[in-house]
Amino acid sequence: MTGSTRRPANDVHTRLVHADSGLDADTSVAPPVYPSVTYRADSAEQFRDMATQARHPRFYARYGSPTHARVEALLADLEGAEAALLLASGMAAMASTVLALVRSGDHVVAQRSHYMGTTQLVGSVLERFGVAATLVDQTDPAAFAAALQPHTKLLVVESPSNPLLRLTDLAAVARIARERGVTTVADNTFATPINQNPIALGIDVVVHSATKFLGGHHDLLAGVVAGRRATIERIWDMSLVLGGNLGAFEAWLLLRGLRTLALRVERQNATALAVARFLATHRAVAAIHYPGLASHPQHALAQAQMRGYGGVLSFALRGGGDAAALMPRLKLFAQAVSLGGIEALAMHAATTWAGTLTEAQMRASGVDPALVRISVGLEEAGDLIADLDQALSG
Ligand SMILES: *Cc1c(COP(=O)(O)O)cnc(C)c1O
Repeated sequence: MTGSTRRPANDVHTRLVHADSGLDADTSVAPPVYPSVTYRADSAEQFRDMATQARHPRFYARYGSPTHARVEALLADLEGAEAALLLASGMAAMASTVLALVRSGDHVVAQRSHYMGTTQLVGSVLERFGVAATLVDQTDPAAFAAALQPHTKLLVVESPSNPLLRLTDLAAVARIARERGVTTVADNTFATPINQNPIALGIDVVVHSATKFLGGHHDLLAGVVAGRRATIERIWDMSLVLGGNLGAFEAWLLLRGLRTLALRVERQNATALAVARFLATHRAVAAIHYPGLASHPQHALAQAQMRGYGGVLSFALRGGGDAAALMPRLKLFAQAVSLGGIEALAMHAATTWAGTLTEAQMRASGVDPALVRISVGLEEAGDLIADLDQALSG
């Protein structure tokens, strides 16, 4: 029920509106919400089917719902996957995925720079359960190859990464892992399926924080994992135990947000590029990190594996000064964590992670006091540039 069998069109705008249609007997044009926790069977046979079929959408809400099945079909279609699984947050998706695919004695290879929760999962939680991890420089495919051990089961990547927008060569890493029978997991949150499809590059499993661009309005937490049906069913089995289920209303709200994903991301790509070009020439800015700029050290790789470069970028103030003071001077950018929604957000990276990452982890992630991360919304590019200009000149 989770992979879409219908491909009404190749254009992503059309697929975002129609890829999940026909999955539900309901004739309403807008999708219904199913808040029911449980579903009635009309016969003993039907009840047996409901209880024994994996991922039956009408059995018990922790197993799924017709609304979840529609969102999953749409997301599987977007990522070119056989199936997808919707969960309560990006971390529920990442944790369920990793815990489903490793056991005590296994080894995991991941990046030095990951989303903070993933860093903690791979770097310290797994260790408590007897799973060792090696963290490598994501920009060097040879480092992934060198880190593989005979008992390596999983290779976790994230590209572009947070907060320096560094890239991982997804095709190269997928090839290295596949030769050794190692499963690859890619966090595709920053790129979105509009800009990048890891599965088409050979990656096995894609994870998203749907809280960001997929939901797109800073009003819901959700996560998704997409991949081959057998893999997704293993992760689903683990998710039944961990219980990180997405509520019915959030699933519906995510579906509503997804309808405009391509429109939003295409605009955010263009706005972020304009903002990046502006910051690259600003005298108060020492460094700008955006894969869409020719000056990005991995711009050629970005062109090879991405169709657009996303709505997030970071920059460092000249002189290595403390960028925290810049934050309150911004008028259109809200000083807030998260990214990918319709409102522009800015955050001071070192303050954000001071309570959770050690000094060494911060240095490994490239976080220094001069660094600011911004996420552009749907505002007009010129207005955002003017706001940054006045704040930088203040
Ligand atoms: C936000 C984020 C996550 C975690 O997602 P939640 O929905 O907050 O649990 C994971 N990876 C990346 C890249 C993120 O930006």
